[in-house]
Amino acid sequence: MAADLVISGGRLVVPADTAEPVDVVVSGGRIAAVVPFGEAPQAQRTLDASDAWVMPGFVDIQVHFRTPGGTDSEDIASGAAGAAMGGVTACVMMPNTTPPIDTPDMVRDVMAIAAAAPCDVRTSAAITAGRAGERLADLPALYRVGVRVFTDDGDCVADDALMAAALEATTELPGAVISQHAEDPAMVAGGVINAGAVAERLGVQGRPAHAEVSVVHRDIELARRTGGRYHVLHLSTAAAMELVAEAKRDRVAVTAEVTPQHLVLTEDDVERLGTTAKMNPPLRLASDVTALRRAIVDGSLDAVATDHAPHHPALKDRPLADAPPGMIGVETMASVVWSELVVSGQMSPARFVEVISAAPARIAGIADHGQPISAGSPANVTVFDAAKRWTVQAETLQSRSLNSPWAGRTLPGRVRHTVLAGRPVVVGSELSD
Ligand SMILES: [Zn+2]
Repeated sequence: MAADLVISGGRLVVPADTAEPVDVVVSGGRIAAVVPFGEAPQAQRTLDASDAWVMPGFVDIQVHFRTPGGTDSEDIASGAAGAAMGGVTACVMMPNTTPPIDTPDMVRDVMAIAAAAPCDVRTSAAITAGRAGERLADLPALYRVGVRVFTDDGDCVADDALMAAALEATTELPGAVISQHAEDPAMVAGGVINAGAVAERLGVQGRPAHAEVSVVHRDIELARRTGGRYHVLHLSTAAAMELVAEAKRDRVAVTAEVTPQHLVLTEDDVERLGTTAKMNPPLRLASDVTALRRAIVDGSLDAVATDHAPHHPALKDRPLADAPPGMIGVETMASVVWSELVVSGQMSPARFVEVISAAPARIAGIADHGQPISAGSPANVTVFDAAKRWTVQAETLQSRSLNSPWAGRTLPGRVRHTVLAGRPVVVGSELSD
C-alpha cells in the first residue's frame, strides 16, 4: 500500500469512537486505510495526531467572504485561510455581494478565484434576480453550474408567491435547498438589536422575535404544500425552533442552523461588546440560548454555521444604529462550540461532528465532506486537540476584519492540522504552503 500521508496516533469519533489510537493512511486524496497506531506503511509525510481527535473536516455553510465588492473587509483568500485554520474544509459563501451572485457567469467568476483556496469554497446564489425580491433568478441555470444553496441572505424573501415558486423549483433540482434569512422586513424596518430591555435602555429600535417566527411559520407551510426543501439560516429564537421541530415530526423537508454566537451570547452582550455584537437576526434572550442549546443537542436543530460576517474596522466604528450587522467566526467556530457544549458535558463528540461536519455537508449537498474517517472517504480531515488552550486575538486571526465577539477569550480545543483532499493546509496550527 503506497501512502502519501499518515495522520498518526489520533483517536476517531466517527464511524466509531476508538479508545485506542489509530493511523489514518491517505493515498491519492482519499483515505486508503485506518490501522492500529504504528502499523501504517512508510509515507512521504506524517502528521502527529497523538492526544488529539481525528475528525471529518468541518463544514460552514454560511460565510461572507465579500467577493466581489467588499474586499477591504475580506476576500476569498483571507476568508479561506481563516476557514482552514478553523479546521473548516468546505464552506458556502453567501451571494449578498456587490454585485450579487445571481447568474452562472458570476458563479463561474467567484469559483475560479476559489479554486486556489486552502478550503473547498462553494458559493450559493440569489433566489431572486439582483436579490431584489421581485422575480426568481434562473435557478435551473445556476444549478447546472453547481449551485445547491439558494438564498437572498441579508434580506428575507418576503413575497409569498415568490417563496412558493422558489420552493417549488427545488422539487425539480435534486439536492437544492432554499435558505431563508427569516426576518419579516416590515417588522424589522429600522430595527438595530433585539426588541427588548437593552434596546430600550440604549434608545434604539428593536427587531422583534416575532419577525422570525412569522416567516418560519409561513415558509414551513409553503414547504409542506410544495414539497420543496427549506433551510432556516441562523435561527435565533426558541419559538421558531419549536416550529422547525414540529415540522420535522410532520416530515416536512426542513432543516435549520444556529450560529455559535446565538448559542452563547444574549442581547446583554451588546452593552459590553458594542457594534461587534450587532447582527441580524439579533442576539436574543438567555431563555432562547437555553432552548437553542438543548435543540442542537437533541436534533431539533441540525447544524452549526457561523454567518462569518467581516466588516472593516472603519465600518464597525460607528454608532450602533449605523454600523453594519455581523461578526466574524469561521476560525473560532469549532473551539467555541467544543468549549461551550462538549466541555460542559451537554454534547458528545459524535454529536459535535454531526452538527459541525456531516449535517451541514448534507444540507448543502457537499458530497466530498462530512464523511466518516474510513477507507474510501475523501481525505478531508481535521485533527482537533481538545486539551490545547488558546486565547483569541482578533489581530492574529486570518480575517481582514476584527469584529470577533470572542476576542480575549481563552478557549479549550484548537485545530492542530487540516487536511484538504489529502493535502495538509494547516500543520501545527499554522498555515502550510
Ligand atoms: Zn442572514
